[in-house]
Amino acid sequence: MTSKPDRPSAAILDAVRCAARQEQFLEVVSAEEARRRFEGCIDRSPLGGETVPLNAALSRVLAADVIAPVDAPPFDRANVDGFAVRAADTAGSSDGAPKRLALNAEVIACGVAPVIEVRSGTATAIATGGVIPRGADAVVMIEHTELVEDVPAIELRRAAVSGQFISYAGSDIARGETLLRRGTRFGSREIGMLAACGLADVSVVRRPRVAVLSTGDELVEPGRPLPPAGVYDSNGAILAAAITEAGGEPVPLGAFPDQEVALELAMRTALEACDAVVLSGGTSKGAGDLSHRIVSRLGTPGILVHGVALKPGKPLCLAVIGDKPLIVLPGFPTSAIFTFHAFVAPLIRARAGLAPETARTAAARVPVRIASELGREEFVLVSLVAGDDGAIAFPTGKGSGAVTAFSQADGFLSIDPLASALDAGTKADVTLIGEAARAPDLVIMGSHDIALDVVVGALAERGFSARTIAVGSLGGVAALGRGECDLAPVHLVDPATGIYNKHLLGPGLAFVPGWRRMQGFVYRPGDARFDGLSADAALKAALADPAVLMVNRNAGSGTRVLVDGLLRGARPAGYANQPRSHNAVAAAVAQNRADWGVAIAPVARMYGLGFLPIAPEEYDFLLREARRDRPAVQAFLAALRDETTRRRIGALGMEPAGE
Ligand code: AMP
Ligand code: MG
Repeated sequence: MTSKPDRPSAAILDAVRCAARQEQFLEVVSAEEARRRFEGCIDRSPLGGETVPLNAALSRVLAADVIAPVDAPPFDRANVDGFAVRAADTAGSSDGAPKRLALNAEVIACGVAPVIEVRSGTATAIATGGVIPRGADAVVMIEHTELVEDVPAIELRRAAVSGQFISYAGSDIARGETLLRRGTRFGSREIGMLAACGLADVSVVRRPRVAVLSTGDELVEPGRPLPPAGVYDSNGAILAAAITEAGGEPVPLGAFPDQEVALELAMRTALEACDAVVLSGGTSKGAGDLSHRIVSRLGTPGILVHGVALKPGKPLCLAVIGDKPLIVLPGFPTSAIFTFHAFVAPLIRARAGLAPETARTAAARVPVRIASELGREEFVLVSLVAGDDGAIAFPTGKGSGAVTAFSQADGFLSIDPLASALDAGTKADVTLIGEAARAPDLVIMGSHDIALDVVVGALAERGFSARTIAVGSLGGVAALGRGECDLAPVHLVDPATGIYNKHLLGPGLAFVPGWRRMQGFVYRPGDARFDGLSADAALKAALADPAVLMVNRNAGSGTRVLVDGLLRGARPAGYANQPRSHNAVAAAVAQNRADWGVAIAPVARMYGLGFLPIAPEEYDFLLREARRDRPAVQAFLAALRDETTRRRIGALGMEPAGE
């Protein structure tokens, strides 16, 4: 094409100039220094108490010690159904020489206050939970007595000792004892204890109210349709929930466009109404660094830290306005939640009256070299898998822009600012996040496919958990070789023979056939350049037209091998665009960022694309022979053969391999 692009408008040039004028971080400080400055300026003591009814106390924090106002049980209580007696009267009784005691004219059921004294030679019928009557000092079980109806009396076949089957007043809870200490977080057990003392309400620490705001012109509230270039506001949701987990009360204020006046007003209102404010986004250099600019004029002492030598999390901005902390988190979801846990959650916990969280760690080995930026402490999110000789920490590698990087990780390890890498084989301490992760029964590492989810689902129905880590076919083969997984799903063609996957077999590995997926030429339906053609003809048409843009795949993928075969050395426009998945190819074509690419049929269907079949691709599994006998591996193999699973795989547009 030779036509000159239109000259950009003045507004566009202004925006570019603004982006180029990047406000630099004035001073990047270490995480310790950032914490020192921030904590030096804020009150971390628990907020005052408020009274709540007991049924609203769950997960609240006790504001003051609770002293038991009454005894529990409130009286000496019978623990069995039987008869209240004087132990001395029962001495010497046995099957051969039973003792007889006259029955008093009263039955002590629960809730009945006894009136008749148990005198020597008498007994009173009593139920479990009944009040021990005056004069009695033991209870005999009904099973060890015989009723003599006409007297009436009972015959005892066993002697009793004083105190037998009696719970004394205050033996459970003694009036005046400290029942619960301040700072205790209420669970059901604590609530039960207070109810047993007759307490209907309790003083708990007021929860810090924390305003949550997001900023970004692209942000859309979940539940609404996503326009082109839109992104769902996930930070707002995860931060609000994380505030609750830390003992705070989130005040979600929603997402605001990058518009200074409106955002400033929202932040001022939030500062008035809440104990702290958390904003995410608008922090990257360039594009104006909006949030930082607003915070700098909200009040004193103002910004204490802007820029921390952390990865993820460098753009973090910590400020205090009056006596209220205001934190601007980076917009990238993993950076946002990571810095929240490092700098904000401890503050919320402290103000909520909770003790600092103790980090749970696990020792693990790093299987691959992890490069790191010098000068920043880097945190690497990892999945933990069981290796042949201990736990292995596999970097999830999705980057700080990913939501799932944090949400699906088992933990993280840290790399010193002075180290440029963590070498393969290094032992590292992994700080665990989330619930205590149970080691999965089966680890699958390699290329991901939506039909794999069907098999993993069938496995779950059989009671086995599986962890799938998408590292690509070759990554899976390497992990299998290092003993980090049980199975590696692969789909690579041997360019020399045109045969799929068999060439990846090595010593100690077995081949497990999976399914075939049809690869095809994908394009937007209605594109007259391709509609109605065969894949071959469509490809010819694409290559003949210089205005047509393709989208390629990453080197090392099976699809890339196929694409290169089709192109026979041609390098059409778009060849250098090499995303790593079928979904990314389909999204590029659907969104008009490219005109054609190669992807599998089910993905093309999901994105509503036209599909011209090219050739089937085989997706199989390599299995470590040494692990074949593990129950989870056996269950996986059974699930793969199962008729229902095969039908479900077929419904996704895949063709399961023959038996
Ligand atoms: P920013 O800090 O505003 O420059 O944002 C950096 C990146 O994070 C961009 O890709 C944003 O789309 C993304 N981002 C910012 N805020 C949010 C949010 N609330 N939820 C999800 N992604 C966000
Ligand atoms: Mg933004």
